[in-house]
Amino acid sequence: MSHFDENNWISKRKTYKNKLTLPYFLEGILQKDKKILSEAITLIESERKSDKDLSNELIDKCLTYSGNSMRIGITGVPGVGKSTFIEAFGLYLISKGKRVAVLSIDPSSSSSKGSILGDKTRMENLSKSDFAFIRPTSSGNQLGGIAKHTKEAMILCEAAGFDVVLIETVGVGQSETMVHNMVDFFLLLMLAGAGDELQGIKRGIIELADSIVITKADGDNLVNAKNAVNSYKTALHYFPLKSSGWTPKVYEYSFQNIESIERIYKLIISFFKDKNAILENRKTQEKSWMFEHLRNLMINEIDKLEGNKLDLVLKDLENNKTNAFNAAQLLYNILRNNE
Ligand code: GDP
Repeated sequence: MSHFDENNWISKRKTYKNKLTLPYFLEGILQKDKKILSEAITLIESERKSDKDLSNELIDKCLTYSGNSMRIGITGVPGVGKSTFIEAFGLYLISKGKRVAVLSIDPSSSSSKGSILGDKTRMENLSKSDFAFIRPTSSGNQLGGIAKHTKEAMILCEAAGFDVVLIETVGVGQSETMVHNMVDFFLLLMLAGAGDELQGIKRGIIELADSIVITKADGDNLVNAKNAVNSYKTALHYFPLKSSGWTPKVYEYSFQNIESIERIYKLIISFFKDKNAILENRKTQEKSWMFEHLRNLMINEIDKLEGNKLDLVLKDLENNKTNAFNAAQLLYNILRNNE
């Protein structure tokens, strides 16, 4: 922001200190203050009622300034090279004058299995850059909650002027479908020489990809990687066409080979030229988020019904005293009459 007066902001920030108010967060975000952006994301992850009201207001305000980034999802099994790719690609984007935010979703951290993404130093060089912001999701949340928080964090990052938001997820669960539903471009990283089953990647995920990138295409693995590219290119012919008309591309890449990174960059830039397709896709995504949220709200209400009504219905269902449709209708009726 050219009109940004840094000294003024720093003195202002001091006066806001310890007063975590809407202007504190909003101004901080709009002034691209990464520390405040980080605090704001912590706020939206909070379950406290007072935090929720403030965070809803903040998201509402930030929406006006959001929507201008390239939203890119990146998925692949652990070890495929996601963090290495994001670091190399992120630094490349920065060399092109872009500011890059990385939001990592680690579905494993929502259970007791421990973290897949969090337990090693990741993206060390990228994290040192002034033009990058890296944020893992907090643990202990349900996947649905993580999805909502990540989408909201993306809005805040956009308001903070990030040109590219990379959303990273481990390709082993449902999280990639969820990420696909919040990004414009979905990149699937795959290893050469391992079957799809071995990589734990479901056919459905390949179908979602706008591009498949075969990683570690260097040294002895280069030939394997090139073969894998050809196999996936052939396989993709049998997948249904995307409604946008985009044909997914398959490339090989190595973090040691800048040209392979540049090729992916050019591909993504060409994808983002079709602004109409991006906007249409975002509209469809918003509708599906709306329905998803509505479903969650209803289920929450049903959960809160007095007299353990949900438990009683579930018991009847278990004992074959009712069926799924009648049980759902009954709960729906109770909910309506409760209003
Ligand atoms: P993640 O678990 O998907 O984030 O995978 P990492 O980025 O941590 O990479 C897993 C391992 O693969 C690390 O030891 C990396 O050094 C290595 N690796 C990642 N990308 C490449 C690459 O392009 N070439 C080679 N030779 N090794 C790579």
